[in-house]
Amino acid sequence: MKNKKITLVTKPNTALNNKTGPWRNKKPETDYNICIGCSMCSKVCPENCIEMKENINYPGKIKPVTDYDYCKGCALCVKECPVKAIKMVNDF
Ligand code: SF4
Ligand code: SF4
Repeated sequence: MKNKKITLVTKPNTALNNKTGPWRNKKPETDYNICIGCSMCSKVCPENCIEMKENINYPGKIKPVTDYDYCKGCALCVKECPVKAIKMVNDF
């Protein structure tokens, strides 16, 4: 029998083409009133999909903004947040 060629890995630098959001059934939600803007969630996110930005409602403070196209719902950000500002909610 002839072997089929199967590609198991993607080429380098193609991560932005591989949206991981559809993997998710829960998504992280951040309570900005609890968040202290430490950036820990942004640093540990394996998809690098949390960007720290200034928020219009919190002048002079930076808050995390999640790009749900790439959030795979792993909850690592929830585990690492030092003030428990993030919780996972259903996302069916
Ligand atoms: S749930 Fe995982 S992929 Fe989604 S923002 Fe948090 S750390 Fe990143
Ligand atoms: S880890 Fe928690 S406190 Fe720090 S920026 Fe993220 S949500 Fe805010």
